[in-house]
Amino acid sequence: MAMLKSSLALLVLAFAFFFCYVMSSGSYDYFQFVQQWPPTNCRVRTKCSNPRPLQYFTIHGLWPSNYSNPKMPSNCIGSQFNESKVYPRLRSKLRISWPDVESGNDTKFWGDEWNKHGTCSQRILNQFQYFERSQQMWRSYNITNILKKAQIVPNATQTWSYSDIVSPIKTATNRTPLLRCKSQPKSQANFQLLHEVVLCFDYNALVHIDCNRTAGCWNNVDIKFQ
Ligand code: 5GP
Repeated sequence: MAMLKSSLALLVLAFAFFFCYVMSSGSYDYFQFVQQWPPTNCRVRTKCSNPRPLQYFTIHGLWPSNYSNPKMPSNCIGSQFNESKVYPRLRSKLRISWPDVESGNDTKFWGDEWNKHGTCSQRILNQFQYFERSQQMWRSYNITNILKKAQIVPNATQTWSYSDIVSPIKTATNRTPLLRCKSQPKSQANFQLLHEVVLCFDYNALVHIDCNRTAGCWNNVDIKFQ
């Protein structure tokens, strides 16, 4: 009987260790590739250092995510950011596609994103592959151009519905994206600002898939892209 009890305790302990290992090394279902519209960052955050924010969608991050909680996993155990693994040729491309639009410290921004998100998928994408794959995605899916072709360009007065903006992206990419919006701070305005466009990819970050519509923009509130 005592033997049975101790084997059972050992089994429970082993399971607990395994569970902790999986949670801390990152278990995820899919990737969110998040592009942001820099002028919105600079409107909603007081610390934006660039007086004239970039007028094209830039990378915010590539986030391994769970369907049950798309903000998880994060900050997994693993190798922390090492700038030397982002080779100079890739680094110069990332300065254009993945700039720090808030404080101008690109390398620190890449490090924050790798440490928070990249560490959770490093069994699939090592650090170089994580940044290279993000760069390829950005080049393949030019949101600024897709919207421009649909006559959706920055404008201070015009408003759009959620589907006005999703439709051309869906047509161009054959997959459903997700939009995220921000409200203008200290304003009672009855509109929201387009902030991010999310494209979703499978577990290996290779196959483009539909995104589930999760929290992002409010329903039935007009969207401004400015
Ligand atoms: P996450 O940490 O989940 O990747 O995204 C949220 C954070 O990203 C926010 O704290 C926001 O300030 C930060 N963020 C978004 N864009 C930029 C940027 O261009 N530069 C920096 N430094 N942080 C950014």
